[in-house]
Amino acid sequence: MTPKEVIALAKEKGCKILDLRFCDFPGTWQHTSYPISELTEDCFEEGFGFDGSSIRGWQAINESDMLLKPQADTAFIDPFREIPTLCLICNIADPVTGSDYTRDPRNIAKKSIEHMRSTGIADTCFIGPEAEFFVFDNVQYDSQRDTSFYSINSTEAVWNSGADEGPNLGHKIRLKEGYFPCPPTDTLMDLRSAMIMHMLDAGIPVECHHHEVATAGQCEIDMRFSDLVAMGDMLMKYKYIVKSTAHAFGKSATFMPKPVFEDNGSGMHTHLSLWKDSKPLFAGDGYAGLSETALFAVGGVLKHAAALIAFTNPTTISYKRLVPGYEAPVNLAISQRNRSASVRIPVYSKSPKAKRFEFRCPDPTANGYLAFSALLMAALDGIQNKIDPGNPLDVNIYDLSPEEAAGIPKTPASLEEALAALEKDHEFLLKGDVFTPDVIETWINYKMENEVDELRLRPHPHEFMMYYDI
Ligand code: GLN
Ligand code: MG
Ligand code: MG
Ligand code: MG
Repeated sequence: MTPKEVIALAKEKGCKILDLRFCDFPGTWQHTSYPISELTEDCFEEGFGFDGSSIRGWQAINESDMLLKPQADTAFIDPFREIPTLCLICNIADPVTGSDYTRDPRNIAKKSIEHMRSTGIADTCFIGPEAEFFVFDNVQYDSQRDTSFYSINSTEAVWNSGADEGPNLGHKIRLKEGYFPCPPTDTLMDLRSAMIMHMLDAGIPVECHHHEVATAGQCEIDMRFSDLVAMGDMLMKYKYIVKSTAHAFGKSATFMPKPVFEDNGSGMHTHLSLWKDSKPLFAGDGYAGLSETALFAVGGVLKHAAALIAFTNPTTISYKRLVPGYEAPVNLAISQRNRSASVRIPVYSKSPKAKRFEFRCPDPTANGYLAFSALLMAALDGIQNKIDPGNPLDVNIYDLSPEEAAGIPKTPASLEEALAALEKDHEFLLKGDVFTPDVIETWINYKMENEVDELRLRPHPHEFMMYYDI
């Protein structure tokens, strides 16, 4: 879409409001609204001034005046606003120099693609994320109660927890059996269908939706793969639509990776493939039908996995998901079949075009722009340095001897560990100035101060359970 076409779309849809959106450093959409009369062809060039000083992770800049530069090809009509509203995703620029802001996650994503092209390895990077989420009934959050099961509330969770559910008036979904019989057992089909209608209208190509494995209303909607930057944008729209549709249904959706103790968490498995001159680069006659390029790319991802995970699994609760037994990966290895391996090669399709790897570690608390860029940078580093991905983990892990099992490197156990790994290993991210040293340092400090320490210093409700009467 060109600026002219965006203006025509706004007219056609009778839009009264222009809403400008951008992704902050941790990965949440921020916005500011204008009367639609401000939408002119010039505004795409000139941008809109705003105060960037109170945006999370951006405070350190001396010059707090910043520019929002709307990107015409991101336009969509917000389906949730009463007053017709046109939304545009923006890049962030410095008003003095006019240059792109180095801590803008979208800018980092754009630079990762420029860097990829400059290496001559590929011209296109396709990304396909599977962002899972839970839907709960809207209840007040009570921080004094144990959040592991009882203060969250969903029809399925309550039924299964035995929490105050009222009388049993008939059939209940049996524990872990919400996945995935037809309605009426699946109580969330209409909600997911409403979500994908909004997604299609917002220009997101959707492949399918389904209930997920966890008991308590876990869902997944799969978007068709797309270019890395466009997928960063789509993931923001996806989360917005998922949360807003649930809200409109009187429910709430969360992308927290592990909201329910002892049940599956929510991942965001991310598929990646590289192309050059419209030809796929990942099909070949190596392991699992992969090319040497693809195997080296996986080698890079596995080598840098611990550091990479600081971006793909960036919250303290991310590490409550990366544990054995819930289809989340814990082993840093490649496999065709084993879902405990962090890189899986899907074998559904024999078409060379479908050849890709699936990095299973990410979860949907990731900032898509940063996580996808970091994944691409690790893959490119693997290709450039011909990094071997090691032996595939195609055996059942339980058949290995304790020594063999212990020999497989594992995902970091905490955000702190992942940040320490990033501190040690980030040269691969600095290539082409994609992630600057300032971005890496700010990320580590922001996460340590605002998340790791904030949790570490607080007595946990479960500690009362364990220690109160000691
Ligand atoms: N929820 C699982 C995870 O945490 C994935 C389940 C699946 O899609 N097979 O990664
Ligand atoms: Mg899936
Ligand atoms: Mg899934
Ligand atoms: Mg998957």
